[in-house]
Amino acid sequence: MSYKIAVLPGDGIGPEVVREATEVLKQSAKIYGFSVELAEGVVGGASIDAHGRPLTDSVMRLAKESDAVLLGAMGGPKWDGLDYSIRPERALLALRQELALFANLRPVKLFTALASASTLRREVVEGTDLLVVRELTGGIYFGEPKGITRLPDGIERGVNTEIYSTPEIERIAKAAFEAARKRRKKVMSVDKANVLESSELWRKIVTRVHRESGFEDVRLEHILVDNCAMQLIRDPKQFDVVVTTNMFGDILSDEAAMLTGSIGMLPSASLGGRVGMYEPVHGSAPDIAGQDKANPLATILTVALMLRHSLDQGKAADRIEGAVEAVLNGGYRTLDIQEKDCRLVGCKEMARLVRDKIAQGAQ
Ligand code: NAD
Repeated sequence: MSYKIAVLPGDGIGPEVVREATEVLKQSAKIYGFSVELAEGVVGGASIDAHGRPLTDSVMRLAKESDAVLLGAMGGPKWDGLDYSIRPERALLALRQELALFANLRPVKLFTALASASTLRREVVEGTDLLVVRELTGGIYFGEPKGITRLPDGIERGVNTEIYSTPEIERIAKAAFEAARKRRKKVMSVDKANVLESSELWRKIVTRVHRESGFEDVRLEHILVDNCAMQLIRDPKQFDVVVTTNMFGDILSDEAAMLTGSIGMLPSASLGGRVGMYEPVHGSAPDIAGQDKANPLATILTVALMLRHSLDQGKAADRIEGAVEAVLNGGYRTLDIQEKDCRLVGCKEMARLVRDKIAQGAQ
């Protein structure tokens, strides 16, 4: 088998972590007897500098013609003053929309070795293993009308619109129930149905899909987003699959990241269309870019998700996850997950240790 992968490193720590993760991908291909053809594209701030916009047509074509996309991160203070229409993050939204990636899967699994790296108590976080299924192409990030207007009296008004239609809710609900079937068969649907009409529809449709589409083997519960934010910190082990809207998912998954010790540990997969897009949950971390301080594990675990969901190489994915666990058990830490009596390593060294473990076949 041969797979074409579009590699879009982006800005800040993006190129550093993507470089290490692609080495892991190439190593997996060698071990498991498939080949990967990597084609690199410039996106985000780097593309603004080179081409005057965050995403060119040729990079969009590259993404569409590949089997999967590996993305680093985009943005940084250099481009913060630009108009929203050409900000680096627009490239991300355009890719998600054009590739029809409506389902963002964010597994939040605590490696036992990191139980005391979390800012929460060990007994609270130990055993955390949940999956956030975030709707990715609808809601307030895309809804119209939007914009900033000046009223006749000179006051400025900013508007964004939260919109969800029945088909958008149906397909994300199905994705969540199907994911739950492969896990502990529990779905928690998160909304704000006590206040928002769009949430009222969300709750109604999720309930209907559960009842009418043959998912009765999965347990469904609903929770308000404010309560969910609290419960995630109070007792994260109660959650299996959490399904929610674009903005609530964005916020809750960053909160959930802290259960695992660092945002530098969290991978994500965006699915829905023919081509899946894979990216770490973290951003471009300009504060540590270019210093070999970034944690590459989120992006390495992202490659594992790509192998599992787009390349049908589940064994290779298991081996990467096993290798990451073994390196953490060995006491190696990057700065973001540093602990007393552990050995501090940089981005390159951490990735090399993982590749060594993969080579040894650590499980
Ligand atoms: P961020 O995730 O980049 O950084 C938040 C904090 O976490 C920083 O202190 C950073 O050093 C740390 N951190 C993040 N990833 C890390 C890693 N792998 N290893 C160690 N530490 C890590 O979020 P931010 O600071 O809010 O955003 C910075 C820029 O990234 C902004 O321009 C933002 O718009 C952009 N951003 C892009 C994406 C994306 O491309 N998907 C996502 C989020 C933010």
